[in-house]
Amino acid sequence: VSERVIEWRREIHRHPELGFEERRTAELVERTLAAAGLEPQRVAVTGVVARLPTGRSGPTVALRADMDALPIEERTGLPYASRSPGRMHACGHDGHTAMLLGAATALAGAPEELAAGEVRLVFQPAEEIGGGARRMLAAGVYEGADVAAAVHLTPRLPTGRYETRPGAIAAAADHVSIDVLGRAGHGARPQEGVDAVVAAASVVSALQSLVSRETDPFATTVLTLGTVSGGSAPNVLAERVALRGVLRTFDEPAQRRAHEAIRRLAAGAAGAHGAEARVEVEVGSAAVVNDPKVAARALRVAADVLGPEAVGEAAPLSSSEDFGEVLAAVPGCFGFLGVRNPEVGAVHPVHTPEYRMDEAALAVGTRLLCAFAAALGA
Ligand SMILES: [Zn+2]
Ligand SMILES: [Zn+2]
Repeated sequence: VSERVIEWRREIHRHPELGFEERRTAELVERTLAAAGLEPQRVAVTGVVARLPTGRSGPTVALRADMDALPIEERTGLPYASRSPGRMHACGHDGHTAMLLGAATALAGAPEELAAGEVRLVFQPAEEIGGGARRMLAAGVYEGADVAAAVHLTPRLPTGRYETRPGAIAAAADHVSIDVLGRAGHGARPQEGVDAVVAAASVVSALQSLVSRETDPFATTVLTLGTVSGGSAPNVLAERVALRGVLRTFDEPAQRRAHEAIRRLAAGAAGAHGAEARVEVEVGSAAVVNDPKVAARALRVAADVLGPEAVGEAAPLSSSEDFGEVLAAVPGCFGFLGVRNPEVGAVHPVHTPEYRMDEAALAVGTRLLCAFAAALGA
């Protein structure tokens, strides 16, 4: 199966598709599952799900792969590089899809490997733009699932190394937008207006105490204001300044507290200048929180398959992943499998035009998914 996994991965890599546009990819997935004797079903626009029941009662283990690419122009120079301008599989989702197809094919061909229960094969669209996990949940693909697992390839770890951890492994990400409203006036007579630029500068400074003074030192919170825009002319008091950023947190109490503190700090700092702060926090993807028991089992299973030296506890990541929404509904485990290998140039981070993976990791990931299917629900 492992050569075919590489072929599937390259075919998907050549034709990257953005979230909810994964038509060609979904067709390849459906064709491959059908060829393995499974009955794939189309859900959530471009999502695909298939069931592999053993006929014996037991746990249902859902394995999830995401299928979408990124709006990036590929610069790897690989023979199977993207043929779609401005589109690239720069997060390794092509590998995730190919590994799960490999596991599906292997398990469907040798169902005696599974003691009991059911394996649910979940091919999810639109992880990068968000909404994919939510749509798959709404379509009922995780109904009756006892355990859910996903493996994300990463160039932060050497090829074949698997890491996960109990509890939070990736952050929740919320969009913060603050409009600071003053009153326009002539730049020569500041006393007649309210300068939104000065008020916004105070808001930016005040928000720096969110992490240092408002957050539990043992919890992690990150607030980055990525853009500031406002004003119309050098000699006019700005009426409105817009601040936009992202808040990242790892648990709900920290998240709730941060939302409250952002509103209070922004209102107070703007108010001190006679300006008003309109704060909106749009809740984005949830933190990815692993079930402690399932994560411990995943580490044991991985150690059996890969050897104990190739397995370890992961450090939490401040980036986010929409599998967190699945884990809020089904106990499970999200973990990382290394694809870093300087000998094949696989050293660049994900989401960059140079990203590439060591394809030797794909066979490892396929074996790992098969082992999860057999043992994670036990
Ligand atoms: Zn990504
Ligand atoms: Zn990803």
